Amino acid sequence: MSETSLRAASVLDRARLSVLQSGVGLDFDSVLEVLRLPDASLPAALQLAHEVRMRWCGPEVEVEGIVSLKTGGCPEDCHFCSQSGVFASPVRAVWLDIPSLVEAARQTAATGATEFCIVAAVRGPDERLMAQLRDGVAAIREAVDINIAASLGILTQAQVDELVSLGVHRYNHNLETARSYFPSVVTTHTWEERWDTLRMVRESGMEVCCGGILGLGESVEQRAEFAVQLASLAPHEVPLNFLNPRPGTPLGDRAVLDPKDALRAIAAFRLALPRTILRYAGGREITLGDLGTRDGLLGGINAVIVGNYLTTLGRPATEDLDLLAELKMPVKALSATL
Ligand code: SF4
Repeated sequence: MSETSLRAASVLDRARLSVLQSGVGLDFDSVLEVLRLPDASLPAALQLAHEVRMRWCGPEVEVEGIVSLKTGGCPEDCHFCSQSGVFASPVRAVWLDIPSLVEAARQTAATGATEFCIVAAVRGPDERLMAQLRDGVAAIREAVDINIAASLGILTQAQVDELVSLGVHRYNHNLETARSYFPSVVTTHTWEERWDTLRMVRESGMEVCCGGILGLGESVEQRAEFAVQLASLAPHEVPLNFLNPRPGTPLGDRAVLDPKDALRAIAAFRLALPRTILRYAGGREITLGDLGTRDGLLGGINAVIVGNYLTTLGRPATEDLDLLAELKMPVKALSATL
């Protein structure tokens, strides 16, 4: 065995002991080692990540649909985002009406999804948005049996309290990238502001959904840093996006992540977060293609977003559902999530 293969076997052996057997996530140094594994060790890393997912999360896959209540025209400057009003990207501000919101929830529930996330492209919600949300959540709860999540940016304590009283059960707010890299991709607010919202959400009892985007130009060390920062938050769910470069944004010309690096990251994040819902989010189609999508589902991923993303098209819901059936991975039922 070469020295590289021996080193690879050793980190995976250690991970088998600490993560698979004890459910304790890898630390920074070990996550970094997994991210640096040679290609030849990738199948073994994915296999171990899959075993960890099956042991600590089970075979079920959580399916979620997302809808945009307010699209585009955001005052923030996240360099990857076509919804920022700061760049000349083609997405313009549009509001969704309540009947359309309810219809989207109905269609999402019809796919078997248990989660419906209402998203708005804003720094944080103003009174108009909170009023829309209030009406929207009430109308959905009346008509559709589905868990409602929200993603509305940076919150005040009063807004956190109101979301709890509306019955919003999970709040999504992504840290996007490692703390050390965040100022290179966002200048209009700080990583710490995002962290403060997440702390309030956690203390409120709502489930915390927090992930980010890989392939923004962060180093492999920063990718490992991000994984352990997320682990320190102990989120209920981590959505993993891969950059899908959007025309007109500062990252519009970046190459997409190498699929092997994306799969290494999936395995590494699972080994850092053994008990968390790890969700495929945006950019997986362009980064991984169909074969890679399957490898990720057999390498630590246990949740998907069906249908379209906020500004880019996903695969038809039936393709994902067919793939889950083929892999014999049951879709998590609503009763199991309540
Ligand atoms: S990521 Fe969110 S906060 Fe940043 S520009 Fe896009 S919509 Fe606005």
